[in-house]
Amino acid sequence: MSSTPLLQPRSLKPVSSSSDRAGYQVYMETFGCQMNEYDTELVRSIMKARGFQFTPVDEEADVILFNTCAIRENAHNRLYGHLARYKARKKERGLVIGVLGCMAQNLKQELLETRSWIDVLVGPDAYRRLPDLLTDALEHQRRGLAVDLSEFETYAQIVPDRNGGVNGWIAVMRGCDNFCSFCVVPYTRGRERSRDPESILEEAQRLASHGVRQITLLGQNVNSYRSGEWDFARLLVRVADVPGIQRIRFTSPHPKDFPPALLEAVAQHPIICNQIHLPLQSANDRMLERMGRGYTRREYLNLVDAIQKKGPIVLTTDLICGFCGETDAEFQETYDLMKELEYQAAFVFKYSERKHTIAARKYPDDISEQVKGNRTNQLIEFQKEISLKHNQALIGTEVDVLIEGNAKKSDQQWMGHTEHNVTVVWPKESSTHLLGDLVSVSIQDATPSTLYGMPHSHK
Ligand code: SF4
Repeated sequence: MSSTPLLQPRSLKPVSSSSDRAGYQVYMETFGCQMNEYDTELVRSIMKARGFQFTPVDEEADVILFNTCAIRENAHNRLYGHLARYKARKKERGLVIGVLGCMAQNLKQELLETRSWIDVLVGPDAYRRLPDLLTDALEHQRRGLAVDLSEFETYAQIVPDRNGGVNGWIAVMRGCDNFCSFCVVPYTRGRERSRDPESILEEAQRLASHGVRQITLLGQNVNSYRSGEWDFARLLVRVADVPGIQRIRFTSPHPKDFPPALLEAVAQHPIICNQIHLPLQSANDRMLERMGRGYTRREYLNLVDAIQKKGPIVLTTDLICGFCGETDAEFQETYDLMKELEYQAAFVFKYSERKHTIAARKYPDDISEQVKGNRTNQLIEFQKEISLKHNQALIGTEVDVLIEGNAKKSDQQWMGHTEHNVTVVWPKESSTHLLGDLVSVSIQDATPSTLYGMPHSHK
C-alpha cells in the first residue's frame, strides 16, 4: 500500500456522529461480470464487519464505491461518466470516492494522475484492506492505494453479503494463467488459485439453507479448478448433491482443457444444467493463434462433437469481431461456424485494445471502427435469428422453469429461466406458485430473448 495526502480536505461525520446512523453510509455500484457481482458481496461483508453501512441512495452516502471491469471499452466509458458526476458532488458536500476491481488494478497510474478526486483505489486481491483505507480517507483525508496481487487470496472464509433471492454465486477459483492476448484478466486478477472444496461446499449448504435454489460456480477459467485431489468435475458433482439445490450452472470453462469427466457430469447429473458456455472468440485459425487461445477450429469442433454426442446439451458462446488484422474472409469463417453450430446465444463484442495486454504490445489494432461495428452488428443480428428459431421451436411445448422473481415489466408476471438459460415470462394470475418453485410452463410465444407462456402444473 502507498498513501499520499488528499489534495482537498473535506468535512465528514465520524462514526461516532450524533446522527442516527451507526456508521458511514456507503453507496456502491458494480460493473461487469458475475464475478464482480460476487466480489461486491464480499466487499459488503468485509465492510459491514467493520461498521460501515450500505445505502441504495447515493445522496445519503458518505462513501461512493465503484466495483469496476476492465474487459471492455464501454465499461471504462461508463465509469468515467459516473466519476465526473460525483466529482461535482464531492466539491459541493464532501464525499470519499473509491474505485475497486479490475480498472483500479489495470489503470491505477492513469486514474491517480488524471482524477485527483479519487480517494481510494483497491484491486481485486486487496479488498480486506478497504475498511482501513476508507477510514483513513474519511478521518485523516489520506489517499489510499492497495493494488498488490496475491498468489493465495481466495476470500474463502468471508461469507458474502447477499441481497437474497433464489440465485447464488460461488467463486471457486480466482485469476487466470491463460494470457489470451486480448485479455486483461491475468494482469488485473493475477494468477490462478483455487479455493478449498470444504469452504465451497459449506457455502453451497449455507446458500441452500437461505433459500437459494440455483447456484452458479464462477471462475475466470473454471475448469482449471484444482485443490489437492479435487478437480472441477468432482467439485461440481458434490455441489450438485447439496440438498435443496435444484440447478447448478458454471461459467466459464475454457475449450482448450475441457475434461471428459466434466462433460460426463453435465450429461449425467440431473441437477447440472444441460447448457455449456463455450467461448469460441473466432473460428479462424490465424486469429485463434494471435489471440493465444490454445485451440484450433478443428479442436473446438471436435469438442462440440463430443458434447453433442452426449445428448441435448445447449451451447452458448462469446465472439470477438475486428481483432488485430482480421480480414473479411477470416471474419466470414466465424459467421459460417455460427451458422453451422446454431448457438442458443452468443455474446458478441467489438474488439477494443486493453492496455498492458499481449495484443496491445504485439499487434496493431488496425481494423477500423466502422468495420468492427459492421461485423459486430452482423453477428448480433444473425444470432437473433438463430435464437428466435430455437425459441419458436419451443412454442406448444412445456418447459421447466425456476421462478426467480417478478418480470422486469410487471410484478403481475413471473420470470425464470429454462435449463438452457432462456428467459421465460408468464402471468401469476391465481397461481399459488412461489419464488424458487420449479414449474412447468406451456410456451405460447417467443422472441429471440424471451419465451412467453402459461403455467401448467406444480413440480
Ligand atoms: S481464459 Fe483467456 S479470456 Fe478467459 S480470463 Fe483467462 S486470459 Fe482472459
